[in-house]
Amino acid sequence: MIVDFHCHSNCSDGQLSPSGLIELAEERNVQTLAITDHDTLEAYQQNLKSSIKLITGIELSTVWNKIGIHVVGLNVDVKSKQLCQLVESQKLIRLKRAELIAKRLEKYGLKNALEEIKSKSQGSYIGRPDFAKLLVNQGICTDTNHAFKKYLGAGKTGDIKNQWQSMDEIIIAIIKAGGVAVLAHPLYYKLTNSKLRRLLIEFKNLGGVGLEVVNGYQNPDKTEYLSKLCQEFDFKASIGSDFHSHKQWKKLGCNSQIINGLNPIWAVF
Ligand SMILES: [Zn+2]
Repeated sequence: MIVDFHCHSNCSDGQLSPSGLIELAEERNVQTLAITDHDTLEAYQQNLKSSIKLITGIELSTVWNKIGIHVVGLNVDVKSKQLCQLVESQKLIRLKRAELIAKRLEKYGLKNALEEIKSKSQGSYIGRPDFAKLLVNQGICTDTNHAFKKYLGAGKTGDIKNQWQSMDEIIIAIIKAGGVAVLAHPLYYKLTNSKLRRLLIEFKNLGGVGLEVVNGYQNPDKTEYLSKLCQEFDFKASIGSDFHSHKQWKKLGCNSQIINGLNPIWAVF
């Protein structure tokens, strides 16, 4: 079975519209799809028609021990009052963060950042990739990788993350919305084995249910390591492409066979 429980539309930093993503999923024989935009449920405010099974979703930013962490909420009621309130405050936090990043990058020559980004985007979403593109457009960086390496990546001047809603508030909001919380791309945070285990224990204690065992194309060693952790901590396994655009090497859709032997998250929907 081909499924995908992690991908992005142009309601956040993806390239395709939600309908475009669904069309692509149909072409790629994806049977179940969740669009999980960063800190927004806007995709689900659109009138989405689909011949495939659609699961609602969102990817929420939080901070754990000063490390930026992403939690995917799946099968949520997109009209849930508590979740909508949380999303609204995440949006404000994102805007304030953007203002701060713009201010910090001004020192390095970036001009009119917010105005330029807002004039180019359809929605209210502003993320670090928008700043990366602008740094390139204004000739401050050679490409977006360079922009992240020098100004926006972990520990750099534009990496501001401490003001997101806490992990427990996020998990509670997902649960109140009838959904399940999944820890996104656990290896993306570059934690030591013992720190990752501490994160998993805390995530589980707070009500987290799933672990993203597969995120895009990944080394089989990593899948094996995460599969073992998934079993050890009795999580349900989630898989997703984290697809953003055709320019990326990641393709929409994942073969569910990769996690044979684990309890799949979609069994609970
Ligand atoms: Zn993502």
